[in-house]
Formats: sequence, C-alpha cells, structure tokens
Amino acid sequence: MLGTLRRRIARLAFAVGAGAMMSCLVAVLAAMCWVPTAATGSRGSGRVHRSGDVEVISLSTERTLWVRYDTYLVFCARFDDPAAIDRGLDAAAQWLDVSEVDCTEEVAVIQCGWPLPAFRGVALPSRMLGTEYEHAVRLRPAPASGRHTQFRMIPLQPLWLGLLVDSSFFAALAVGISAIPWCRRRARIRRGLCPSCAYPVGDSSPCTECGWTMATAPQRPTSTAITPQNPHRRTANE
Ligand SMILES: [Zn+2]
Repeated sequence: MLGTLRRRIARLAFAVGAGAMMSCLVAVLAAMCWVPTAATGSRGSGRVHRSGDVEVISLSTERTLWVRYDTYLVFCARFDDPAAIDRGLDAAAQWLDVSEVDCTEEVAVIQCGWPLPAFRGVALPSRMLGTEYEHAVRLRPAPASGRHTQFRMIPLQPLWLGLLVDSSFFAALAVGISAIPWCRRRARIRRGLCPSCAYPVGDSSPCTECGWTMATAPQRPTSTAITPQNPHRRTANE
C-alpha cells in the first residue's frame, strides 16, 4: 500500500518536473529559432497587427511587441506586473494611432512559450551604450540585416500564468505517455492474454510462455518473477 503510494508520488513528481522542463525548453527553442525576414520589412510567416506606436508579431510559439520607448515607459509606470504591462501594450496596439515611429527609439518585448507565452524579455535602445537587455540573454543577431533581426534574445522573466498552463499541459502529456504501458497491460488481461508477452493464457495465472504470474508480479512483470519457476511450470503444464 505504502509502496503504491510512493510510486504514485514519484510518478507525479516526474510528470511535474518533465512538464516544467518541457515548457522551458519550448520557450528557449522558440526564442533561438526566431529569425524574422526583416530585410525587406516583411515578417515572413508571422501574423502582424500594427496601429501607431505598438506593433505585435505573433508566431505560434513566440510573440514580439515593438513599441516606442516613451510608450513603453508609460506602461511600465502604470503597471507593476510584467504580464499586465504586456497585456496593456497588446491592447494598445488595437487602438493607439500615433504615426512617425522612430526605429532607434523602439523597444522590443519578446514573449516565448507554447501554448501560452511563459517567459518575456525586453530589448531597450540606448543611443549611448547600444541596445540593453532586461530579463534576457542576448543572442547573436540573425545574418539578415534590418532592425527586426537585431533584438534576438532568450527571455528569462517568467510570466507565471503562462508557465503554469504550459507546465500543466506538458505534465499531462507526460502522464498520458507514461500510462501507455499500463493501458496495454490492462487491455491484454481483458482479452485473456499474458500482460507481459501477449501469449493467450486465458484464466491460468502463470504464463506458459514467459512465466509471468499474478501472485509474484501484481503490477509489472520483473525478472525475479520470471526466473526460478519458469522451466518447472512449463513442463508441468505440458
Ligand atoms: Zn507471458
């Protein structure tokens, strides 16, 4: 009983760990693989909506908000939570209409993750020092020239809701995958087959093919269950 409980806790911990790892990995890969085709000003496969001084590029695993520096500062002053800042900028892209965007004064807010953005990072332009990065590891710019290839980074600031949703998603996936052998064993038992080797055994407990017994291996056939009695049992049944 205690052993079963311990096994379940271990399995749950594994699923949670795997889920968190996968969500981080997806976010990092999304950030590293992101190379917008910016040489001509277009964005390749990304969905773009632009209104005045905020621009949003949505890829499946990665979102970039291009925003004027002064607008960015206004939203930073208004909200404490990074997720709220990004939501505000995103919403602003729908209604703001300020023309004349100065490229050298643009801030790039990059969000990464799937199904929801789980991390964010910010590239701030600085005339004196070059671009500064907040909550991010800078990556080498993409080979194609253009302003949109300059701000490549791996975002590090967690967006907690997105991280929670992504981790749960991948944890559920890990649980589903790890349950496949168990489901297969159950299905074999229902069909009167040996759960270990799929030999048709009917109701007889020790398998004549591999020696699997209900008594010695209730959960999963192990090598100790198979070894000593196997040859003996086989001759007895024959
Ligand atoms: Zn068997």
